[in-house]
Parts: sequence; structure tokens; C-alpha cells
Amino acid sequence: MGFYRDTGVVLRLQKLGEADRIVTFLTHRHGKVRAVAKGVRRTSSKFGARLEPFGHVDLQLHTGRTLDIVTQVQTLDAFGGGLTVDYPRYTAGCALLETADRLTSEEGEPARDLFLLLVGALRGLAGGTRDPYLVLDAFLLRAMVIAGWAPAITECARCGREGAPYHRRFSVPAGGAVCEGCRPSGAVVPSEPTWRLLEALRDGDWTTAEDTDGAARRDSAGLVAAHLQWHLERTLRSLPLVDRRGAVPRVDLGGGIAVGVDGEDDPDADRAGPDVEPSGGPLRPEPGVAL
Ligand SMILES: [Zn+2]
Repeated sequence: MGFYRDTGVVLRLQKLGEADRIVTFLTHRHGKVRAVAKGVRRTSSKFGARLEPFGHVDLQLHTGRTLDIVTQVQTLDAFGGGLTVDYPRYTAGCALLETADRLTSEEGEPARDLFLLLVGALRGLAGGTRDPYLVLDAFLLRAMVIAGWAPAITECARCGREGAPYHRRFSVPAGGAVCEGCRPSGAVVPSEPTWRLLEALRDGDWTTAEDTDGAARRDSAGLVAAHLQWHLERTLRSLPLVDRRGAVPRVDLGGGIAVGVDGEDDPDADRAGPDVEPSGGPLRPEPGVAL
């Protein structure tokens, strides 16, 4: 019991009573923390503006019986300001927060690497120079490395044999790249630029990553999302919002962070078209995996 300090990123807000909120943070030293922020929905609140999603904050908390109480907040980086005015960056940012939330189910369990990765990704998004979807996919790949289920990219997921430089097929259930000897049915055939991009994003090789075309970016994004969803065993609500073709997504942003999309008419539904992989037929998701 008592007070403790930490830095954290605001992942999520929930209303509590008339004027309070429950704030979910991913913190540097204490993992995911849900804490009560009192009076923050009053206009006179000192805390309110600092406790918005994407905010990177210095915190003082008081240990409570069920939930801790936020007693001080100082803004370190107000990432939200740059993101909420740019729709692609905003949707990529929402997917970052949601993934960080989903990957940290054990509250209080330290998640230092994921926290540092999240702050770096938010900084990359808010900085505005990199393709927001490449930042998102680099984050998702590295978050999966931290979680222990990174997709195999250069080696076969089953037998470990190295490709030259890549194997031909990718199977989400098998764990990524698979050699011809190990390949299960239903494995897809990404293009070589797609493999190169996956490897570059995982390794932080931005020179290679940014030297890719839209087809490789769309296909790598589809594989990353499918692999992540397979392992999370539930759909990331933010990912279908990410529009990678410049079409206007049919979403309602009127309610702030609560957004919805009609899954039957996803503008990205055909993003992995047959022109991407001439030799192996269209790149399609594994049966049963929603892209
Ligand atoms: Zn193999």
C-alpha cells in the first residue's frame, strides 16, 4: 500500500460514476495498470486533458483495494495532438494501443519491452515522416517477437531450415515461412518484396522498408494481421479500420475513439489481389483466418 511513481501510456478510458474515469495505462515498470482518475470529466479538472489516449505521462498513483488511484499526472509527450488530426495516423495509433492492451492481459505483470516499443512507435507516428502503416506493422511484428510468437521469415517454421534467402510459402497455422517439405495445405505464396519487407520491419531496417511498393506493403500488412489475429484468437477491432489504399473508409468518428466499420464491405477486402503473385495464384488468407 502507499504511493508509487511510474511513466505510462494511456491506452483506454472508461467512464466511472458521474465525474470519474478508469484509465488503463501501459506503464514502464508495473505493466498494465487500471486506475481511477477522480473528477476528470469535470471541466475544471487539472488531470482531464493529460489523461487522453496516446498520452505519455509521468504518474503518481496510490495503491487501492481494487483499483489504484491516480494522484498526479505530468505530460511527457502529448502524442494524441498530432494523431487525432490525421486519419491514417489516428487509426494506426488506435491499433497500436489496442494491440498493447490485448497483449498484456495480466495486470501488474511487467511489460517493459512492450512499453518501450509502444512509446517508440507512437513517437514515429506522431513525428509524421514515416508511412503510418509501416510503423504499425513494424510495431506488430516486434510486439510478436516480445510475446514469443514472431512469424518465421527466413527460416522454416517447422524444421528450421534457412531459405535462399526466403522460402516460398507462408502458413499462419504453421508459424510463418515453411519449406516445400514441410508446407501444409493452404499456405500462401508472398512475393519476394513482401518477404523482404517483413524482414526489414522486424529488424528495423527502414531504408529497405521504405523502398517498397504498395503491393508489398499491403500483402505484408495482411500477413502480419493474420498472424497476430491467429495468436490473439480474437479480432483486433482497430485493424479493419486501417485503410491502405486511400479510399474513404465508412466509419463514424463522431463518437471520438469509439468507431465502427461494416465488415462486409471492408475497403481492403481485395487488397491482396491476383496481380501480386503471378506464379502461385492469388495471395489469400488461410481458411478461417480473417484478414
Ligand atoms: Zn521445413
